[in-house]
Parts: sequence; C-alpha cells; structure tokens
Amino acid sequence: MSGTGGASATGPGAVQTYWCRRAWLPSGVADGVRVEVADGVITGVAVGETPTGTVLPGLVVPGFANAHSHAFHRALRGRTHDDRGSFWTWRNHMYALAERLEPESYYRLARAVYAEMVLAGYTSVAEFHYLHHQQNGRPYDDPNAFSHALVTAAADAGIRLTLLDVCYLAGGFDRPPTGVQRRFADSDADAWAHRLESFRPASGLVVVGAAIHSVRAVPAEQLPAVVHGAADRPLHVHLSEQPQENAECLARHGCTPTRLLAAAGALTPRTVAVHATHLDPADITALAESWVCLCPSTESDLGDGIGPARQLADVGVRLCLGSDGQSVIDPWFEARALEWHERLASTRRGRFTPGELLSAATAHAASGWSGLGELAPGRGADLVCVDTGSLRTAGADQAGILYAATASDVTDVMVAGEWVVRDRAHLRIADVPAALETSIAALTDIGG
Ligand code: ZN
Repeated sequence: MSGTGGASATGPGAVQTYWCRRAWLPSGVADGVRVEVADGVITGVAVGETPTGTVLPGLVVPGFANAHSHAFHRALRGRTHDDRGSFWTWRNHMYALAERLEPESYYRLARAVYAEMVLAGYTSVAEFHYLHHQQNGRPYDDPNAFSHALVTAAADAGIRLTLLDVCYLAGGFDRPPTGVQRRFADSDADAWAHRLESFRPASGLVVVGAAIHSVRAVPAEQLPAVVHGAADRPLHVHLSEQPQENAECLARHGCTPTRLLAAAGALTPRTVAVHATHLDPADITALAESWVCLCPSTESDLGDGIGPARQLADVGVRLCLGSDGQSVIDPWFEARALEWHERLASTRRGRFTPGELLSAATAHAASGWSGLGELAPGRGADLVCVDTGSLRTAGADQAGILYAATASDVTDVMVAGEWVVRDRAHLRIADVPAALETSIAALTDIGG
C-alpha cells in the first residue's frame, strides 16, 4: 500500500463487489450484505442480497483500531514474570530493551509486531513513540530515523499508522533524564516541536500526531508549548496509570495530573488520555470533551487497576482501546475485557452494550483517522472476516462474537481496499511467528 491511497489492484476507480453472509452494520448484524469498494472506500452497502462477486466467509466487521501501542514492548511478552516484581521493575526490563534498539533492529521488530496486529484484525495502530535518540542522547543524523523505521514497518505490514511523536523532557518530577531516558528526552518543548515539524513520512497511510509522555516526564511549565506545538494533530498522553504518579503530582503541584493537564489547556477534543485509571470525580468531569484509551490487557498485566470506564462514558468521554505493552495483541480480548473489568469492579453485568464495545474497538478517530470504523458508504474499506464456526465461536449469537472470538479466529483482513490477510495468512510476510522470533532473539539476552 505504500505511496498509494489503497487503490484496487484492478486500477483506480474499478469497483470490487463482495458478498458477506453476515456483516455487522451500524444498524446491527445483517444477513446477505453486498459491499462495493472502489479506490479504498466503501461505495455501496445493500442487505438481503443474493450472493454476487467475491463471497466473504463468517461474519464481517469493521477493522479494529489500536489506539495505543509501544511496538518494542512485544519483546517483553512472557519474559517479565519470573521474579514477581512491580510496575517499576517491569519498567527496568523495558528500559534495558530500549537501550539496545537501533532503527534497523526496531524496523524488523515493528514490522513483525504490526503484522501480528493485522492478523488479529487491527487495521490502524497509534504508535506512542518516545525512543528518539542515540545511546548517548544525541540525535541521529536524521533526527526522525526511528520514526521513518516505524513508518516503513507499518507500510510493509499493511497497517495504517498514526505516528505520535512523544515529548519527554524529564525522568520524573524535578528529575533530569538519566541512563536510557536520554534516548527519549529532548532539551525542551521547542526542540521536540522542531523534530515533529520536520517529519515527512514517506508512505501513504500515515497520520502524524503528538504526545505528552506524562506529567512525570513533561514539566508543567512546558505543557502549554507542547499543546501549541501539537496544533490540530491528535494529542495523546499517559494519565494516572499508577497511584504513585498522582501522589507525586499532588506533592509537587497540589493537584491531580488531570487537573494539571486541564490547566495547561491540554484536554481538548483531540486529546486521548491513555489509561486514566486512578481518577477522582472532578477528573472525570474534566475529561468530558476528550477521549480515554483503556488498555485492559496491559492494565491487568502491570497491576495498574481498573479505570472508571462507565463513569467516563456517562459524562460523554469517548472511549477507545489499545494493546499498549503487547502482552496481548487481540482486539476481541480488549473489547470484552473493557466490559469484564467493569463487571469485576461493580459486581454487575451489562455495563456496556455490544454496540458500545464495538464502537470503542473501532475508534480510529481517536488516532486522527476520519471515515473509518463502520461498514457504510463513504467509509474506508477496512474489513475483517471472523470465523463463526471455530472451536471458540461455534454457537455464539452474532453480536456475541465479541465475547467469543479471539485473534486466532480472524480469517481475512482488508485495509483501505486491499487484502493484507487471506485465509489466515499474511500476504506480505510469509512467516510472522518466525519474524517475531528472529527480531526478538536479536534483542533479548536482557533482563528476563
Ligand atoms: Zn503506554
């Protein structure tokens, strides 16, 4: 897809016709759905049709949106559990890995990780990218060397990418960056903005966005400059993932991280607050105009806690979902875990409808993509076919697929009108597990 808008293999303007035995439309699951696609866009949808064109198996759903990813964390999966530990000891493993990466090795790893994402049904990923510099903290000759590596990796894996250039200035409240943190850190918000402004991605299906690493890593007086530098781009920020961040912010600034961001003008309709796990009622209200990205698998893995997702939704916060630390890459799991976490915290069922879960799981708009996330005319042609007759899904009712399917049940994935996965195989990378194994083995005589 690189360099194109995803035009059909049969040429610009050609209409491809697909017939879905079942498809999840904005009005619900329908039978016998004809979908017409031209130039990467859905141009027609009709229900109750007889088979015509290419027949798609199972149930067809819109492509999933991964609104928060650190691709390199995939190399930590299954490697940080032996010594018990905490969020902060996990972070030490992550830092050891970050110390080793170079643009070429990160390209190989990210290409495999993004391929794993497409195989699971993700068609866009927002990469929260904070590894910018050489080991000594100096920029590469091309200050965007890592960003270009990620763009190429996403293009080769066939996934839409939102490259979020992360502003990271401090190693904690009133602490300069040390050790590997120097690879993440810029001297100030202006230096960060300069790199962001200079970045010109070489491939087509890319959105460039901005991010504040956290209120730990961007001093309060620099926050307005980051908001200004982000301009009209998506602006993502880690928020209140751990109680320690709240306690330190309260001690330093006398307020919560949410209120600190609000005071800096950082909570806009384009803002995505990632995690938002430990909030008070006033924080929830302050986030009403923004997005919150829950990352249920990571929040479980790291023992973060359970965020107030239903309360956030009730005040109008738009929800999205991310795979974050890559302990799991499975949009079906994240969608049902959003509801399951609510059930565990509230001891009640039915906190979100299946339609609400699908909306959160397909919220590409949080990452700056317009016109995605629904099977409807005028929307981007991102289609996912899921096997409804597998060991896991057989017998489930159709909207219940979010409670039954796993990444292993995805059979076919179309991104911007082009097939990337057919019959469970990635069409561009022959052996994705081998690509993962090789790229991780090159990096992991570390910590785990
Ligand atoms: Zn994160």
